[in-house]
Amino acid sequence: MDERLLTGTMRMNKANHLEIGGVDTVSLVEKYGTPVYVYDISQIKYKARTFKMTFQKRNIKAQVAYASKAFSCLAIYQLMAKEEMSLDVVSGGELFTAIQAEYPNKKIHFHGNNKSDSEIIAALDYDIGCFVVDNFYELSKLNEYTKQRQQKVSILLRVTPGVEAHTHEYITTGQTDSKFGFDLENGQAQQALEMSLEMPYIDVMGLHCHIGSQIFETDGFSLAIDKLMIQSKEWQLLFDFQLRVLNVGGGFGIRYISEDEPLPIEDYVNNLIDEVQSVSEKIQLPMPEIWIEPGRSLVGDAGITLYQVGSQKKIPDVRNYLAIDGGMTDNIRPALYDAKYTGVLANRVADTVEETYSIAGKCCESGDMLIWDLPLPKADATDILAVFSTGAYGYAMASNYNRIPRPPVVFVENGKDFLAIKRESYADLMRLDCSLY
Ligand SMILES: *Cc1c(COP(=O)(O)O)cnc(C)c1O
Repeated sequence: MDERLLTGTMRMNKANHLEIGGVDTVSLVEKYGTPVYVYDISQIKYKARTFKMTFQKRNIKAQVAYASKAFSCLAIYQLMAKEEMSLDVVSGGELFTAIQAEYPNKKIHFHGNNKSDSEIIAALDYDIGCFVVDNFYELSKLNEYTKQRQQKVSILLRVTPGVEAHTHEYITTGQTDSKFGFDLENGQAQQALEMSLEMPYIDVMGLHCHIGSQIFETDGFSLAIDKLMIQSKEWQLLFDFQLRVLNVGGGFGIRYISEDEPLPIEDYVNNLIDEVQSVSEKIQLPMPEIWIEPGRSLVGDAGITLYQVGSQKKIPDVRNYLAIDGGMTDNIRPALYDAKYTGVLANRVADTVEETYSIAGKCCESGDMLIWDLPLPKADATDILAVFSTGAYGYAMASNYNRIPRPPVVFVENGKDFLAIKRESYADLMRLDCSLY
C-alpha cells in the first residue's frame, strides 16, 4: 500500500488493522455497523489551521471559508465555528443548519445561482456577512428587499474570469460558457457593478471567482487574480470602485489515489499571496483582503468509508467482481464523474496482495462500480474494505436510491469516537410517505 494514503492519524496498528484517530476501524465496525463514514477530526483541524496560519504568518488580511457543500451537518458546522472559520452556504437548508449550529452570522457567505425569495429573506433575517451575487435577477431582488427592509448588505459579485482550471492543466476561454456569475469579457460584470454601486443599501466589497475543482497547480489561480485585479484597476478609475475583497474560491486538490500530486496547503496559499501582492504593486492597486473557500481540501482526505465485503462474481479471464454493502448511494462520484478511489482491507492491511478485484456497489445499476481493478489480498465476506478520501461530496451527495438508508457519520479523535450523524432506519426512509388508504 502507498503510505502517502495514510493521511493525518491513519496508520496500521499491531493487529494489522487500519486505525484512524487512535481508534481501530474493526472496533468501529463492531460498534456502528457498515457502511460507515469515519472522519479524522484532528486532520480537519490541522488543515483549517494551516490555511489560516499561512495568511497570518505573512500578515495578510484574509478569510478562509469552509465550502460546506462538501460535507454539511450540525457537527461539522460546530467544529468549523470553533476553529473560527468562515462558512459558505449555497441553499436554505445549509443556512438553516448553520443557524441551528449558532454559526456567527457575519461569518456566513451565501452562494448560489438561483437563490429563492425565502432563502434570501432567511439570510437577511439572520443578517449574514455577505451575499455572493451571481446574476442580475438576484441583484434586483436583493435591491428591492434591502430597500423595503432598510437593511444594509455586503456583497461580492461573482464573475467568470474566462479561466478554467482542470486537474492537470488550465485553459483560458475567450467567453465562458457557465451557468455561474457575470461574464468579465462581454461587459456583463461591469454592468452589474455599475448597477450595484447605485443601490442604496448594497455595499460591493469586491469580487469573487471560482475556477474549478481538484486543482493541482497554481497557474489558473494566478491568471484569474491578474484578470480580476487589472479589471478592478480600470473600475477604480472609471467608477471609483475599491476592491476591498478578492475571493478566489476553492478547488485545492487532494490525494484520492497514488497518482494524485496535490500541493501542500502552504504552497497554494503562498502563491495566491505572492500573486496578489505583485499585481497590486505593479498596477498600484491597494492590497485587497484575500478570501478563499476550500471544501474538499478541508474534509476530503480526512474521511474514509468502511464497508463489509459480500458476494463475489468471478468471470474467468475477464474480471473478479467483489461487492460491498454500499455503493453509489453513499459515493456517487465514480458513477457521476468517473472519480478514482483506492482502498485496503481494513482488517488485514499488510496481508500479501494476491488478487485484482473490481469493487461493485449493491444498487441496481451496472454503473454502480466504486473502484475498477483494485489489488487486494484474497478477500471474503469476513473482510472490511476501507475506501480512502471519501470525506468530501460523499455523504453530501448520498441518496436513498433503491431505498437504501444513508450510513452514519462517526468522528474520531485521540482514541475516542463520536456519532455525528445517525444511521437512517427503514422508518426514517418512510417518514414522509403518505398512505393512500
Ligand atoms: C464547490 C465550491 C467551492 C469548493 O470547492 P472544493 O473543490 O470543494 O474546494 C468553493 N467555492 C465555490 C463557489 C464552489 O462552488
